[in-house]
Formats: sequence, structure tokens, C-alpha cells
Amino acid sequence: MKIVVSISTAVSVSLLLCVTGCDPSPSESRNETAMNPTNMKPEKIVKTDEEWKRLLTPEEFQVTRRCGTEPPFSGKYWNTREKGTYVCVACGTPLYSSDAKYDSGSGWPSFWKAIEDGNIEIRRDTSHGMVRDELRCARCGAHLGHVFDDGPEPTGQRHCINSAALRLIPEEKNAPKTEP
Ligand SMILES: [Zn+2]
Repeated sequence: MKIVVSISTAVSVSLLLCVTGCDPSPSESRNETAMNPTNMKPEKIVKTDEEWKRLLTPEEFQVTRRCGTEPPFSGKYWNTREKGTYVCVACGTPLYSSDAKYDSGSGWPSFWKAIEDGNIEIRRDTSHGMVRDELRCARCGAHLGHVFDDGPEPTGQRHCINSAALRLIPEEKNAPKTEP
């Protein structure tokens, strides 16, 4: 049984309209704010489709704003073992650590836990005749993928994520030795 994260009242009306399925509706134009000055917590990012299209590649837009799914074994991260942090391709929020990445054999990047639960929202998705738990970036609402119960211990979860929704920030290498 998954806990569906309740949507805070700060979420825009446009996002609320998306809650019943995986069909994002166009959002109204609103200015995003990087930080809320009163408590320094990151605010939700709301942009129009046109604004997102300017920031994302067509594939990234299709996946994150249209709940698309890239073909398995096609994305740039399904087989990546590089150390680092996977952030949301749309807004840069840290989503997954390479430490939680594992080879699920599915052809999509798979993780057994999020880097921080609050950075991800889980929503019931009933599209395509299936009942699945959809994963979204909690900050910008980007569709990431789905979570299943057939992952490895200790969580038993498999976060099945589209490469197109992620950007890997490689871990800092050890400082290079200075030339003599
Ligand atoms: Zn995001």
C-alpha cells in the first residue's frame, strides 16, 4: 500500500487538475520564485507549456510534461554506473543518488529509494488501463516514471525513471594533483 502524498494547498489549480490522471493540462502563466523569503523553502515552479518548451528538448518535454515514456534501453542513463546525483531535468531538484541505482533489467534507470522523500510526489495513475503509482518531481510537477513493489531490499521499491527526466551531476572527483 503506497501513501499518496497529499498535495499542499500551495499547488496551483493547474496542477490539481492533473491529479486524477496522467494528462497534464496547460498551466496558467505564473512567475516562479526560487526561494520563499520567509522560510527559505523552495517554492513550487509553475510554467506554461511554451515556457517549458523553451527550456527542454522535445523528448524531455514529452516525458516530463506529457507523461511520455522513452523506449527501454534507449535513454542515456539506463546503464550508467557513474557516481553522482540525478536531478530533475526541468528544475534541478535532487531526486536520486547513484548509490540507490541498480540494474533492474528493465532498460530504464532504476532506483530503490529517492534521495529525499519530500522531493518526489507519488500519484495514482489510471491511464492506459493500468493502475500504477506515478512519480513526479515535487517542485515542478515533472513526470518522472512509476514506482513498483518489485525492487530490492531494504525498501522493496523499484523507481522506474525515464532518463529524459533526469540529469546526472557527476560526483566531484578528487582534486587533481598539481603539476610539480
Ligand atoms: Zn522538477
